Amino acid sequence: MYQAKAYSASSATSSLASSTIARRDPTARDVQIEVLYCGICHTDLHVVRDEWKEFVPTVYPCVPGHEILGRVTSVGAEVTRFKPGDLAAVGCLVDSDRTCPDCLAGLEQFCANGVLTYNSPDKHLGGVTYGGYSDSIVVDEHFAVHVPSNLNLAGAAPLLCAGITTYSPMRHWGVTKGKKVGVVGLGGLGHMAVKFAHAFGAHVVVFTTSPHKKDDALRLGANEVVLSRNADEMKKHAGSFDFILDAVAASHDVNAYLQLLRRDGAMTLVGAPEKPLPVAAFNLILGRRSLSGSPIGGLPETQEMLDFCGEHNLTADVEIIPIQKVNEAYDRLLNSDVKYRFTIDMASLKSE
Ligand code: NAP
Ligand code: ZN
Repeated sequence: MYQAKAYSASSATSSLASSTIARRDPTARDVQIEVLYCGICHTDLHVVRDEWKEFVPTVYPCVPGHEILGRVTSVGAEVTRFKPGDLAAVGCLVDSDRTCPDCLAGLEQFCANGVLTYNSPDKHLGGVTYGGYSDSIVVDEHFAVHVPSNLNLAGAAPLLCAGITTYSPMRHWGVTKGKKVGVVGLGGLGHMAVKFAHAFGAHVVVFTTSPHKKDDALRLGANEVVLSRNADEMKKHAGSFDFILDAVAASHDVNAYLQLLRRDGAMTLVGAPEKPLPVAAFNLILGRRSLSGSPIGGLPETQEMLDFCGEHNLTADVEIIPIQKVNEAYDRLLNSDVKYRFTIDMASLKSE
């Protein structure tokens, strides 16, 4: 066991502050990674403020962060896929049972015994797992992925959650050339969804509540932008979408989007607002539409996504901040004021 520097929250109402946490010494199958960059996901904010308490209560102190990119500093004796000096990345999962049908299919995100990168029981040290707002992390090599060396590192970190969470459902629902695809909410996840849908060759329509994001949406790859609070603009697209990905973090009306799906169209929620969202049955019945949700992605698909990003030189648009600005960044997330992902330069933690 050793002490690592971190930023943690001590309660649902306290700010994140500098702290020290225990990390395990690498075991035979572990890699130890010096964290260089960690993206800020809206999930970090939901969990730090205990907004998902009815689903999974937060244990404090909480060290968030699951968009982790760094360099391997040491490896255990049985590690075969990494060596010191390699780039390595860690997303939302750090363990699973590896024996259930989901794990055997490479769909670890559905494993009933999955261990999340933070706020999950830690079988090694007791307490809960601690995330990437830290100078280092120790993880089983199965849950670390390789980062293509051509990618900008700060921009690649958010691929580990915002990237895979949008890539995976679009692959699952067959987003390809000729499909009309909607992306709701141009935040961290939404802007990655636009980049992927564009790269897959779809006709991409962004739905935003922020008129000032219109030019950016087009630059990111959208063919059209709809201001979702304008009912007339919405109506023009009635019954026309093959697929809609909803990446909104707050309460909003999903019925307005279900009505835009064509026959057999599908809408997938990746955004996870604190409160339940009402759904009118007729919006599904008429048109045999479907509504689903999707969590992150498995390890093989995460590597596939990173390799795809390497080939297409695709990363998140990031605003790099020192860790000392993390509380300010959370306030800005709540105001939809992010272009389009905050990434923490973890070198800033050295001065704490
Ligand atoms: P984010 O960067 O804060 O973006 C959310 C966007 O939603 C905002 O930029 C805004 O876009 C829109 N929005 C915010 N408030 C709204 C409101 N009241 N009505 C309508 N639109 C609103 O968040 P994120 O990091 O992308 O995460 C989005 C959600 O996905 C969060 O709930 C997060 O927990 C969840 N998530 C889920 C998974 C998963 O596995 N399913 C993984 C990661 C994150 P506009 O300004 O364009 O309207
Ligand atoms: Zn996330």
